[in-house]
Amino acid sequence: MGEEKIRVVVVGAKGKMGRETVKAVMNDPELDFVGAVDRTLDGVQVSEVLGFDCGEAAFYNDLGKALIDTNATVMIDFTNPSVVKGNLDKAIELGVRPVVGTTGMTPEEIANWDRECREREIGGLIAPNFAIGAILMMRFSAMAAKYMPHVEIIEMHHDQKLDAPSGTALKTLELIAKEREAMGQGHPNEHETITGSRGGDYEGMRVHSVRLPGYVAHQQVIFGGLGQTLTLRHDSINRESFMPGVVMSCKMVMNYTGLVYGLENLLD
Ligand code: NAD
Repeated sequence: MGEEKIRVVVVGAKGKMGRETVKAVMNDPELDFVGAVDRTLDGVQVSEVLGFDCGEAAFYNDLGKALIDTNATVMIDFTNPSVVKGNLDKAIELGVRPVVGTTGMTPEEIANWDRECREREIGGLIAPNFAIGAILMMRFSAMAAKYMPHVEIIEMHHDQKLDAPSGTALKTLELIAKEREAMGQGHPNEHETITGSRGGDYEGMRVHSVRLPGYVAHQQVIFGGLGQTLTLRHDSINRESFMPGVVMSCKMVMNYTGLVYGLENLLD
């Protein structure tokens, strides 16, 4: 037989991203979907819950047990900001490579997990956005900011999203900040009649988070210059948009050591 498949456990498999992820893992010949984690479904077959063929994999309510029982190589996490941190700790402790799409961590926390991954000699990835179009939007934004440093971001997501601004917006701001000196934007004497009208402030750049039913994940990066504006916009119109990036990441984390933050760092 050929090379061994990568054994994948999906945490948050019953959620919107988790369900799509299980489908994508099932459809990839190099990946083996071996288990799922959800707080309430211990012992239930995943196929029964998700309504499509998920092989023999079952749900666990305990991540540690799931990773050990299934002899997992990779843990994919699409849960929420309050539980992902414990999940990352557990996976790294057990030497299982984390591929994490959940957002809402601090740079200090990420640096800590990077150190732990290096100690265990495993690779891992936290990606605020797995969609290739979003990665390109971030890259183009950093390029544009060099020449058009006045910039604001409007990001739009569904109204079940817990963190604001989105991880993608934060990552975009960080990338732009590398190309642009921090500075105030707007009128020096501007004041808000309604608090928050000018949005969040990151080194003078403003970020606005829209949360409405109907949206999936969207972002506009608007640059303003003398007599002109430039708008870069990306839309994930459904969750399939993230799956090529998720599947690719499961394979790439096998080939390096340490925790990478941002899928763009794995692309040339
Ligand atoms: P969702 O609410 O539909 O799914 C989250 C799932 O996690 C739920 O099924 C919930 O039961 C489960 N869960 C909660 N606590 C758990 C625990 N302790 N153990 C196991 N499972 C647990 O949310 P979603 O829309 O699927 O998004 C999940 C996360 O992914 C969010 O943080 C979101 O911002 C992020 N996201 C990332 C990307 C990306 O490309 N990186 C894209 C979309 C969404």
